[in-house]
Amino acid sequence: MTQKIHALLYGFDLPPVGVSVSVYFVGQRLFIDNMPIELHSSQLTVSVGGFDHNELFLNWRDSEGEQWALKAISAQDIKVLVDTAPNSLQPQLAQWHKRDKHIKTVWGTIGALSVTVVFVIGLFIWQYDHVVGWVAEQVPVSTEEKLGQATLEQIKAEGTIIESGKAVESLTLLGNQLTQGSRYKYQWLIKQDDTINAFALPSGIIVVHSALINKASNANELAAVLAHEVQHVEQRHSLKGMINSAGWAVVLAVVLGDVSGVTAVLAHQVGSSYFSRDLESEADKLGYATLVKAKIKPDGMVSFFQKLQQEQGSTNEGLSWIASHPQTQERIQAIQTLIKEQPCGGCRDANLNLAIVQANVTQAAKVK
Ligand SMILES: [Zn+2]
Repeated sequence: MTQKIHALLYGFDLPPVGVSVSVYFVGQRLFIDNMPIELHSSQLTVSVGGFDHNELFLNWRDSEGEQWALKAISAQDIKVLVDTAPNSLQPQLAQWHKRDKHIKTVWGTIGALSVTVVFVIGLFIWQYDHVVGWVAEQVPVSTEEKLGQATLEQIKAEGTIIESGKAVESLTLLGNQLTQGSRYKYQWLIKQDDTINAFALPSGIIVVHSALINKASNANELAAVLAHEVQHVEQRHSLKGMINSAGWAVVLAVVLGDVSGVTAVLAHQVGSSYFSRDLESEADKLGYATLVKAKIKPDGMVSFFQKLQQEQGSTNEGLSWIASHPQTQERIQAIQTLIKEQPCGGCRDANLNLAIVQANVTQAAKVK
């Protein structure tokens, strides 16, 4: 008899809380009841997450490049998953056991500390969000850099990243104008990817998908996306998001300065983490100020959002930047208000030859 695993399915167009499903392994294949999804074990990666670092996820990307995840619901489901997973997944699961042990070591360390610490931990649990914010602020830039680089390595392993050439050079020149005086040393990269997306990693690594570059109608639109992502870095949203979704054992590991054991866990969070509405609004508002400070016309913010919003109605494909950026209409209005209330007199068009950047991105794709 096949043993079923009760799980929550998370995916591109599914509700954020996930969909309850039953899954089971038959040999190397994973099936989901009542769904036309059949996965080979080689497509799956194992990761851990959750508040207490006790959740087990199976992750994969579909043919469109969208990220999907299954979370085993109970401890019993995790046990069935571990017991029935094919041998090819066992090395990854063994790593999960090891991480589990690593976390227990952290707990052991904590256990040895004083009552004051226990009290502080109580406070942690009570006000987790605030604590994550506080912890993120305590992380030195050098640690953030390690985290960012480790995450980048993981992303590089998953797809084609363009690190040099004309397109990256142009992006870097434009980016430099948006990051004057920052505590971070920014790195601008392009990922060959058909989904319209851009994301920021801790310490100023910004990755723009080729499809987003090709979707921009002018340099101001590209500058608007970059300015928004810059603020996700400056406000440490990426770091907070990673810490928050990875669980608080990770918070402790970061506090204790041991990043090595948790980077893989944190790196996994990048593709799947969504910022809250408040953080997105903050990135918009401060991104607007960033454009104004750099004397770049902020109209690209409105036109790019509008374009994505229009397309969102007609197709579901390849729009992850907007999917991870909800309440588009509300945000367009907020930016329009900013333009009205704080107009930028001396602003000019962004100094970037978009046609050349787009041509070079396309060329790189052909070389591949
Ligand atoms: Zn954002």
